[in-house]
Amino acid sequence: MPVDTGLATTLLDMAEKLNQEDPLASLLDEFLLPDELIYLDGNSLGPLSKRAKVRALEVVEQQWGNGLIGSWNSYDWINLPKTVGNKIARLTGADPDSVICCDSISVNLFKLLSAGLLLSNQKSPNSETSNPSRSIVLSQKDNFPTDLYMVQGLQQLMNSVSHTPCELMTVASDKIVDAIEQHGQRIAVLMLTHVNFRNGDIHDMQSLTSLAHEKGILVLWDLAHSAGVLPVKLDECDVDFAVGCTYKYLNGGPGAPGFAYVAPRLLGQLSQPLSGWMGHKSPFDFAHDYQKSEGIEQLLCGTPSIISMSILDAALDIFDEVNIFDLRDKSVALNGFFQSCVEQLTASFPASDDPLTLACNVDASMRGSQISYRHKQAYAICQALINEGVISDFRAPDILRIGFSPLFLSFTDMLKAAQILTKIMHTKLYTQPQFHIKNAVT
Ligand SMILES: *Cc1c(COP(=O)(O)O)cnc(C)c1O
Repeated sequence: MPVDTGLATTLLDMAEKLNQEDPLASLLDEFLLPDELIYLDGNSLGPLSKRAKVRALEVVEQQWGNGLIGSWNSYDWINLPKTVGNKIARLTGADPDSVICCDSISVNLFKLLSAGLLLSNQKSPNSETSNPSRSIVLSQKDNFPTDLYMVQGLQQLMNSVSHTPCELMTVASDKIVDAIEQHGQRIAVLMLTHVNFRNGDIHDMQSLTSLAHEKGILVLWDLAHSAGVLPVKLDECDVDFAVGCTYKYLNGGPGAPGFAYVAPRLLGQLSQPLSGWMGHKSPFDFAHDYQKSEGIEQLLCGTPSIISMSILDAALDIFDEVNIFDLRDKSVALNGFFQSCVEQLTASFPASDDPLTLACNVDASMRGSQISYRHKQAYAICQALINEGVISDFRAPDILRIGFSPLFLSFTDMLKAAQILTKIMHTKLYTQPQFHIKNAVT
């Protein structure tokens, strides 16, 4: 049965009107996306921007190729982790010099969680014996796996070789407040992801941070799905630690280095175990003993990956031209418009016996920049979408996840993607065997 053409025309008129009113529309041109592709996966790997490509060529040919080792000074490579960190600080409401770009989320979690456990159990100056009482890292059951895995590794290490035990405790999202109330005195660090990667649920950073602080708990936020797409106020919320990656909404490129934030008030007391030379207060003294840098550089470990970080540095400049509140407004508008197109188009077909169900908050303004649907064939549906030029992703076991990166998507993209998705659902194209072949990366 053909889709109601009256409906298609009405939706197209709406999409074009929304495009015309979009204050960020001119940025679409900044990205180098293949023609005819609708990229709804900027939440997993942001696309290449023109300025990032220019820098990639420049850093390889000019800075590395011609400048060789002199570029550490002449192009200030040595300060790049902090230069890039400061750009991320502006985007996350952090003080200047409180964010550093380095390593991955996983590695940065190791540094900050160990530092947090040590800090929480520091001997008070007048007590004779160390009596570690805060051993728990409290997190959410459905947090991103690496966040939980890193605590499990730390738990094994700390419990076998140190006097500071570590214990991962995970609870459901709606039990976090109860767990803080009940176990507050034994919790060292509350580790949460601001926006849930599966369903896009957003935590209230302000209230959870202040509740944890009342119990003497340090708070670490993972900003993987927030940085560059949602307003974040690390300083205003008095957050202790944060980590994030830069290859998602920040468009830094595959495997681009992550970032770490430490509240300036904690930098003096902090001690992180990956005490590499780049975190030394004076690396080029080549001194025998480690003495940490006073500043955020103390989180550095080894030599930074300059090529990747330079590309990220250029990609971040696009955020100087936009305001994070406009980005959030557009992200919610794209998200809501896509959802409404899917609902209206689905309703124009006879009712399905195998429909998609919403696996997130129904209100686009209450979720991160994504929509999630549940279906037992979610993997095959995702593959069928990709086959038709709509890139989304699948998250095991049964989630089809569609991301809305507001820098490079238009409202007509939303309509086209919704038309393709509803057609795939109506025709059950996803039952074809070629869409069931599993790839290593989903
Ligand atoms: C993407 C993501 C990660 C990835 O961690 P890496 O160490 O950068 O690979 C971690 N946590 C969350 C919440 C994520 O969404």
